[in-house]
Amino acid sequence: MVLLQGKKGLVMGVANDHSIAWGIAKALHAQGADLGFTYVGEALERRVRPLAESLGARLIEPCDVQRDDDIDALMARVREVYGALDIIIHAIAFANRDELNGPYLKTTREGFRLALDVSAYSLTAVVKAAHDLLAPGASIVTLTYHGSQQVAQNYNVMGVAKAALEASVRYLANDLGPRGIRVNAISAGPIRTLAASGIAGFRTLHKQFAEVAPLRRNVTIEDVGNAAVWLCSDWSSAVTGEIIYVDAGFHTISISLPE
Ligand code: NAD
Repeated sequence: MVLLQGKKGLVMGVANDHSIAWGIAKALHAQGADLGFTYVGEALERRVRPLAESLGARLIEPCDVQRDDDIDALMARVREVYGALDIIIHAIAFANRDELNGPYLKTTREGFRLALDVSAYSLTAVVKAAHDLLAPGASIVTLTYHGSQQVAQNYNVMGVAKAALEASVRYLANDLGPRGIRVNAISAGPIRTLAASGIAGFRTLHKQFAEVAPLRRNVTIEDVGNAAVWLCSDWSSAVTGEIIYVDAGFHTISISLPE
């Protein structure tokens, strides 16, 4: 059975073939979804375009989520190419590398603003701009991390941004629910990606995670992709405003990692 036949989706956040967004795109495509992609900057375009083309993308557009003009231009193109959207994948985050290291206390006002803008507000900005394009039954999925709920070494301002993102999921779910549109987040365990490489001590965390997580393994972009298929399909039709953990069970245990 193919779960997403006829569904049109927009995937935001592929940087390369290690990206969580790429794992999700592959899984959605395998279930029949017709996907468009966004990228930021020429350097990433060179990586994203061939990946997107390999899945037959009809739309590959630049979009810096810090720029409302970019988001509006993107949605105008989505309207031309697809007419309506059934799926939005938001897999975007950014914070200054020197604020993902050491104490949270050293976070600057500008660093806080930047992290919250790109990593949290962008979901609201994208959904607001896509509002008219969303088909009844549409599903929006974003990516978060458990550092929003508990202190994770060096995650710092990104943990605060993820807390805002998770709250945004609940408020957006409430706004869009009457139209049958669902909004959820996947809280993924640590995966070695470009964004993760900016977090001090990530390699150690990644290794130790697999030693203590109930499933005794790390999480893959394929694991996250499969959960996203479920969230984008009618099989999760009564699930909205949720944070779904795809973390090999790590958040359920009380053990804390050594520094
Ligand atoms: P990634 O580096 O592959 O993806 C991050 C994406 O954010 C990139 O494509 C980048 O271009 C995009 N981005 C950054 N600033 C942007 C901007 N201004 N406008 C538009 N796009 C912008 O890394 P990833 O780990 O796949 O990250 C995807 C999402 O998953 C992020 O929200 C991240 O916080 C989340 N996440 C990652 C992990 C992990 O361990 N890797 C765990 C849980 C959640």
